[in-house]
Amino acid sequence: MKEQLERLIALQEADLRQEELAERKRRIPEMVEAARQPLQAAQAFRDTTKQIFEKTGKERKACEQALAEQEQAISKLQDRTTKGEIKTNREYQAHLLEVELAKKKRGEIEERLLILMDEVDAKKKELAQAEAAAKEVEQRFTAEKAGLEGSVGALDEELAGLKQKREALRAAVEPSLLRTYEKLKGSKKGQALAGINKDGSCMACRLQVQPQVVAEVKRATAIQTCFECHRILYWAGDPVQIVPVPEKPAEVVEVEEAAETTE
Ligand SMILES: [Zn+2]
Repeated sequence: MKEQLERLIALQEADLRQEELAERKRRIPEMVEAARQPLQAAQAFRDTTKQIFEKTGKERKACEQALAEQEQAISKLQDRTTKGEIKTNREYQAHLLEVELAKKKRGEIEERLLILMDEVDAKKKELAQAEAAAKEVEQRFTAEKAGLEGSVGALDEELAGLKQKREALRAAVEPSLLRTYEKLKGSKKGQALAGINKDGSCMACRLQVQPQVVAEVKRATAIQTCFECHRILYWAGDPVQIVPVPEKPAEVVEVEEAAETTE
C-alpha cells in the first residue's frame, strides 16, 4: 500500500503540474494582448502629436499666405500715388491712413507668424520624441511577444512528458483506488491527497488527525482518509525511522510505536 500511496502522490503532483502548465499556456494570448497595451498607447500618442504638428504646419502656411497677400495689398495701395489716382489732399490723407492700417495689419500677421514658427519647431521636436518612444515600445513588445509565444514550445514539451508520466502512474495504481482519487480530485480542486504535518494536522483542512490514524498513515498499511475533509492521507512529517532490528532490542521498537499512538 505504501507503494500505491507513493504513486498517488506522484500522480497528484503530475496532475497539478499539468493543470498549472495548461493554464499558463491558455493565458499566453491574453498576456500578449496585455503586453500590447503600452504599444497601442504610445502609437496613439504619436498619432495625436503628428496631427497637431500637421495642423500647426497648415496654420503657418496659411499665415505666410496671408502675409504675402497683405504685402501685395500694401504695394497696390502705394502704387496709387505713382499712378496719379490721388487728386486731392483729403484723398491723400485718407490714403496715408489706409496704408498705415494695412501696415499695422501686416505687423500683426508677422507676429502671429513668429509664434506659429516657434510652435511648429516645438511640435516637430515633440513628434520626434513620440516617434522614438513608439519605436522603442514596439521593440520591447516584439521581444516580449516572441518570448511568450516561444515558451509554448517548452510548455508543450513538458506537457507531453507529463501526459506519459501520468498515464504510466495511472496504470500502476489499483483501479478502485484510482477511482477514489479521481472522485476526490474532482470535488477537492485537484487536491485529492493531503499530507499530515509533523504536529499531526491535516495540511489541507488544518484539522488535527486522530493519533491512531496518524500512526496508521505512518505505517502505510492501508489507505486512510481525513475524517474532516475526506482526503487520502500521507505522512509529510519527518521521515519515519526504520530502526534496524539487530541493533535495538524488540521492546524498544514497541515502546516507540506505543509512543506514536499516544501522540
Ligand atoms: Zn483534512
